[in-house]
Amino acid sequence: IECSRSFLVGYVKNLRYINALVAEHEKTKTAYNAKQEFLATVSHELRTPLTAIKGSLQVISSGALGPVPPKMQHLFNMANSNSESLANLVNDLLDLQRAESGRLDLHLEPIELGAMSIATVERTRPYADEFNVELKIEPPRREFWVNADRKRLEQVLVNMLSNAAKFSDPGGQVEISLAAHDEQVTLAVKDHGIGISEASFDKVFEQFSQVNSTDIRRHGGTGLGMNISRHIMQAHGGEIDFESVEGVGSTFYITMREDMTERQPELTDERRY
Ligand code: ADP
Repeated sequence: IECSRSFLVGYVKNLRYINALVAEHEKTKTAYNAKQEFLATVSHELRTPLTAIKGSLQVISSGALGPVPPKMQHLFNMANSNSESLANLVNDLLDLQRAESGRLDLHLEPIELGAMSIATVERTRPYADEFNVELKIEPPRREFWVNADRKRLEQVLVNMLSNAAKFSDPGGQVEISLAAHDEQVTLAVKDHGIGISEASFDKVFEQFSQVNSTDIRRHGGTGLGMNISRHIMQAHGGEIDFESVEGVGSTFYITMREDMTERQPELTDERRY
């Protein structure tokens, strides 16, 4: 796993180089095609060995071969968490390739954003607990229906929530809220964390880009999450953006068109409680 990890780091460096090339030559066709081909090859070629590694680890953890000896437990845990990081990176690379070639293939359905947010916050809570950060969702005052791909929208929300948690100080709080105006729904994730300097605003949605070079070592991540999230929101005809003050905190928000056909009347406090 260590070996495929350094192998991957090499790949990511190559991708950064190709990205720079694309920017330098104003997206000349050749450079762009090289990047697309490279992304496709890497993401598909890595999937097979990674599936084999994960399968082997699963057999060990199932206990079918006997219990893991206590002396090996630490190494086993490390192998598990590293294969998990590799799987995340490979999935991000696959998503990036799909997004860039316009093949995100959304499966749209009516989704009630309030219920979906509450469920996603609950699923992300254990991750935020690792940073000792509390996720607080404001109870929505009414239903907010949108037409969206459930998995993709959850992916965007998980990205926003996990970033808010990992860039907050221990003991911090993250507030999630929903609002609607002019037939648009906005879901906001507000943290009181490290914030982003104005000079780095452009980097947030760039590929493989992290605002702070120490972020990779301290927080992990690939610098792809926000770029993919923007692709996903744009494919929905929506948007993702943020406001931030360095040292004070950030608010990341997504905006999409409200599906008025599903809209229910606003609940009064009496009816809610
Ligand atoms: P990563 O995999 O590093 O989280 P993302 O694409 O999700 O990559 O985010 C890109 C960069 O934007 C992060 O590395 C970080 O520097 C910055 N960023 C994103 N969300 C926040 C936040 N809530 N607070 C501070 N910085 C953030």
